[in-house]
Amino acid sequence: MRLQILGTAAGEAWPAIFCGCDTCKRAQAAGGKDLRSRSSLQINDKYKIDLPPDTYHHIVTQGLNLSRLSHLFITHSHSDHFDLALINMMNPPFAHNLEHAPVKILGNNTVIEKINAAFNESDLSFNATAIEPFVPVAAGELAFTPILAAHMTHEDCLNYVISSEEATVLYASDTGAYPERTINYLCKLKFDLLVIECTSGTLNIPPTVHMNFETVLDLVNRLKSAGAVSSRTRVVITHFSHNMGLLHKELEAIAKPHNIEVAYDGIVLDI
Ligand SMILES: [Zn+2]
Ligand SMILES: [Zn+2]
Ligand SMILES: [Zn+2]
Repeated sequence: MRLQILGTAAGEAWPAIFCGCDTCKRAQAAGGKDLRSRSSLQINDKYKIDLPPDTYHHIVTQGLNLSRLSHLFITHSHSDHFDLALINMMNPPFAHNLEHAPVKILGNNTVIEKINAAFNESDLSFNATAIEPFVPVAAGELAFTPILAAHMTHEDCLNYVISSEEATVLYASDTGAYPERTINYLCKLKFDLLVIECTSGTLNIPPTVHMNFETVLDLVNRLKSAGAVSSRTRVVITHFSHNMGLLHKELEAIAKPHNIEVAYDGIVLDI
């Protein structure tokens, strides 16, 4: 499985769009891995999680070809993960020669209702289907199992377990500390890779909406003691907010001693 984390920022991006804080100034001066766009994960050629407003930026900087997309999984309706207006760009005359039309868009009820309310014509290049937590979706050579995150009160934010015959991967963004039902589900699996949001960095913020470094460690340790994570499991953190105040190298210095990798835009993970 080839995974590419296309964007690694929280909703405001790095530098944050209207921000004059010191962290954003330092990030802009440093450039490179400190410039972070809104979050999405590409899996092989045909599968993608989330459609952020930075998708065009991802196409031109990473050489993506989204006409090859067959499945688009959405985590939740926050605008940094789900840009409703962009979905129209799949349809003619904005797009031609989609290899796998109709593209299957899958997400929670809120996301699918928003799509259906916006697009009611008959000749669309996609179809949108609501999916339920813990019910796997077969997608070609892969299976995507939506799991329940703890991120929003008004909708079921979904994270995804992606599995092939060779590998099992968790994409955990956005989420706070998982509910027991989700932990129990994850404890029964054997992971090759965990990609976990660490929005708050080392800030002491309760994990009701997002994770910080301490709650990432708690989750990894819990999965380790259940045997779901071993010494060969890669752990990668992503979805960072400028409010954490740490540039890439500073965060790496904190994460490396725990064998945790810090994602940057465009990082490729071959599993
Ligand atoms: Zn987000
Ligand atoms: Zn800032
Ligand atoms: Zn969110």
